[in-house]
Amino acid sequence: MLRSKVGKTTINLNDLYTTIQGEGLLSGVPAVFVRIQGCNLRCVWCDQPEALSFSQRGVELERILKLIELYPHGHVVITGGEPFTEENLPYLVEGILKMNKSVQIETNCTLWQERMEEFASQIHITCSPKACAGWEVHPKIRQYAKELKMVVDQNLNLDVLLKFEDFLKKQCVVLQPEGNKEVFFQKALELQVNLLNLGYQVRVLPQLHKLFHLK
Ligand code: SF4
Repeated sequence: MLRSKVGKTTINLNDLYTTIQGEGLLSGVPAVFVRIQGCNLRCVWCDQPEALSFSQRGVELERILKLIELYPHGHVVITGGEPFTEENLPYLVEGILKMNKSVQIETNCTLWQERMEEFASQIHITCSPKACAGWEVHPKIRQYAKELKMVVDQNLNLDVLLKFEDFLKKQCVVLQPEGNKEVFFQKALELQVNLLNLGYQVRVLPQLHKLFHLK
């Protein structure tokens, strides 16, 4: 186990709130969202522009863990920004797991931290490659991710999806129309049929929280 240094540790925090998980395989699960401040990428359609800069918003880990513990929610989603830019991510994950709550990390999959190795099999990593990073996926994320979430926009096509045959074979791929737009929903359905004809089952899912105007 990591040595606990909760008292001295801070997390660069953008926001902490409760809602439902609105995206991917765990859609509908009630969750505490911990949004990390700072991202190494700049996607053109990013819906969290205020979470991108690496401005200092250090909040004591102890305070964050106490807040999470107050909520009855059994699931915690660490998102961003990009969670792997937070050097104290392993301490946050360790603290949440000690509460017997499940942990999900939503990542753009370009980064990894060696200290996450000991928790990797206990958590749900959602890998969401981005066009602006050339669809890069760190080998460790590829090894441990339980889900591949692909935003369907003008950049995504069948050739890109076929680069992720390992995920396609595990039937853990979600196609998410960008911004819940009708044009991308239709494109997602077409990609789903193309993949079906190649023997792969994928899900098409909207951003549930946005349909119902949740945070
Ligand atoms: S990786 Fe995520 S947080 Fe970063 S710019 Fe892209 S959509 Fe925004």
